[in-house]
Formats: sequence, structure tokens, C-alpha cells
Amino acid sequence: MASGGEHPPSVDRLARSVADVDLPLPLLVLAAREAIAAGDPDAVGGRARGLARRLLQPVVNATGVLLHTNLGRAPLDVAVAASATNLELALDDGGRGSRQDAVGLLVSTLCGAEAALVVNNGAAAVMLATAAIAGGRQVAVSRGESVEIGGGFRIPDVIASSGARLVDVGTTNRTRVDDFRRAVDAPTGDVACILRVHPSNFRVEGFTERPSVADVAAVGVPVVADLGSGLVDARCPWLPGEPPAWLAGEPAARQVLAEGAALVTFSGDKLLGGPQAGLIAGRADLVAACASHPLARALRPGSLVLAALQDVLLAYLRGDAARLPFWRQATTPVEDLRHRAARIADATGARPEDMQVRASEATPGAGAAPGATIPSVALVAPGDRRDALRSGPVPVIARVADGSTWCDLRSVEPSHDDVLATALREAVTRP
Ligand SMILES: *Cc1c(COP(=O)(O)O)cnc(C)c1O
Repeated sequence: MASGGEHPPSVDRLARSVADVDLPLPLLVLAAREAIAAGDPDAVGGRARGLARRLLQPVVNATGVLLHTNLGRAPLDVAVAASATNLELALDDGGRGSRQDAVGLLVSTLCGAEAALVVNNGAAAVMLATAAIAGGRQVAVSRGESVEIGGGFRIPDVIASSGARLVDVGTTNRTRVDDFRRAVDAPTGDVACILRVHPSNFRVEGFTERPSVADVAAVGVPVVADLGSGLVDARCPWLPGEPPAWLAGEPAARQVLAEGAALVTFSGDKLLGGPQAGLIAGRADLVAACASHPLARALRPGSLVLAALQDVLLAYLRGDAARLPFWRQATTPVEDLRHRAARIADATGARPEDMQVRASEATPGAGAAPGATIPSVALVAPGDRRDALRSGPVPVIARVADGSTWCDLRSVEPSHDDVLATALREAVTRP
């Protein structure tokens, strides 16, 4: 505490006293100013470290939620060279090209669509599709699908802000194809499309009914299916053997289009395992309408995203997507996780009562396959150790259940095992 009569410590000197914190001087000065203003110059180190921890940095995802929105969803393994690219240049004739050209070709080939377009995220894809197809007109949505996905994404609000008008169809638990037909045939109606929404993060059970895509498509207006989670093909040809059990019932782009949807929209960073992006695939005329809508320019992705997405899409087309970090994590045999857990537990040197290897259940996350779990293995320590685990040089993000801290290995990259072992040793030996 700076007491009366003394000069406050020099901001500059105080800032330089914490030069060991890896921050540029202006940010150290900010920490010093704040510490002095709070009457506690000695706290400058803590404030500087607090600022450093606000910077984007790698963390260990030990939550068991593979696509964790707070942790950046799908882990990416990309390197982009410092080089100009042919982002909007056609290399064959040297004329103006489109940044959508290559990804559009790859997405449409992958999904069996006529055309495709990429925007910044899934929410933008839904908004652009409804704006381009139904701006100034009506969008029919089942009451059972008029959902909030999280992060403020509410279907009625998205439709309203795209300049279309929502028409509620059916009931919360049961909607039939005749309900859609009545809305479309209503004499005062002006339904431009039907929007189907994957109710990503919840399930309705019991007395429920939902028409098939094929039935809804037969009503006669384009069906836009917001898949959200972005499984591209229900057969998962990029994985050895049968599709994993936890994917049962998850709608997939290729099949939903084949069933008659005019467009599908989905995220790039969910089950696709790529960067944050929103994909729109389907009928060429509707994709063209999306591309020429003024919003498309505002929602277009940058070259970093397009380069990363192109890598991911090529991996699928080569049948090689099992090597993408998300699919690698999702399909690692439980036995491998058990071996890693035993090695990590050993490396911590913890007593058996302080650290156990237990069976656990991971989840795909990001609203994909709601309610489904993937068998997994966790390191479990008694009590809530989350703060200690987050405090190391590479923060470890764990979860607490039944009064214990669980570090689920399915969402941990094997290259992080040593970091996890060190963090756990610190966390369980600390009082
Ligand atoms: C996740 C999701 C969205 C939003 O996608 P973002 O990429 O997060 O913007 C939209 N619709 C559904 C059904 C989703 O699951």
C-alpha cells in the first residue's frame, strides 16, 4: 500500500520489475497502472500474469468433450506458408477467380451436391440461406425444431434477422407433413422454403413425430436442412469398418441431399473436423442465389480458413480423413487410452488413493449426436483440482463429477500426455 506522503512508485519501474512475464512492455505498463490505481503495487506480477492468461494459447482438453466450443472445437493440424496464393485468381487464363471455386468443388463432390459455398460459421450459413431464398417471404419451421442451439443462436431470431418471416408449423412434439402442406397452401401464405433444424443439444422423447426429408421435400418448396454437426456421409467411408455406434441416427449431408433436401448447411469445425466455417451445399440455383446475396460478401471466409478447410476436404476425398485429429481422437481404441492412462498415472508418482484409472464416457460435443457417448478412460483424483490443473504453463481443462476431478484421455492429444502428467503431479501433491 502506498502510504500518505510517499510518491507512488514509478509506473515504468514497476512495469520493468515484472519483465519475466512474457508480455510486450505496453501491457506490463497497463498491469503496473492498474496495480497502482488499486493501491497495491506489489500485486503487479499477479496482474501481469492475469493479462498473459487472457491471450489465446494452447490448452489440454481433458474434458472428454471432443468438440468443446469453449476450447475451439475440432483441433486443427495446419501449417500455412507465408506466401501469396491464387485466392481470387484463375491460374489457367490469369483472370479474376473466385475464392469459393476450389472449396466449392471439393464440398460439392464430397456431398454429392450440384454446388457449394463456404461462409464464416454454421449460423452464417443458415442466415445466408434463409435470406437468399426467403428474404421478404416466409420460412416454415416445425415447432419442434424452433430451437436455441447455444451462444444466442435461436432459430426465430436468425430468421427474423435474415429478413424472412417465420411460420410455425405443427406442435412441439409432433409435426406431420400435412402441417407443412397446409402452411404452404394457405391462401394468404407466401412460404419460400421449409427449414429443418437438427435439434442439436436436446432430445424429445415419448409421443413424437417428425416427417422424413423426402416427405417434406414432396410438399413442393425447397427444403433447407440445417444439419449443424456436419457429418458428410453416414457410411463414414474414411473409417475402417462400420460407422461408429455413437453416430447412429446422426443426419449426414450426402444422404439428406439424396433424400431431397434442396440445401444442407453445417459447421466446418464440428464432425467435419476442420476450421470454423459454415458450409452450404445443394442445388446450383440456390447456391448461386446465396453467393450473389449482399450478405455473402460480409460473411465470406479468409484465406487461412479456406486453406485449412481445403486440406480437410482433400483428406476426406482421399479416403484419408481418419488421420484428422478429431476422427483420430474419436476412434482411438479404449485399450490405447488405458495404456496411456497407466503410463501417465505412473509418471505422476501419485499414491493409488490419489489417482485412479477409471472407465469414463466421452461425448462428441458441439451438439453432434446428442445424448451419445464414446467409451473412454480417465485419470481420476479426489476433490476439485480444476483450478490447480489450469494454473500450469499449459493449462489443463478437466471436469468434476461425483466429488472427483476427471481427466478424460479421449480428448487429449497424445503429444500432451507429458504435460498432463506434470499438471496432475502438481495438482495432487499440492495441499
Ligand atoms: C452448431 C449449430 C449451428 C451453429 O453453427 P456455428 O458453426 O456454431 O455457427 C447451427 N445449427 C445447428 C443445428 C447447430 O448444431
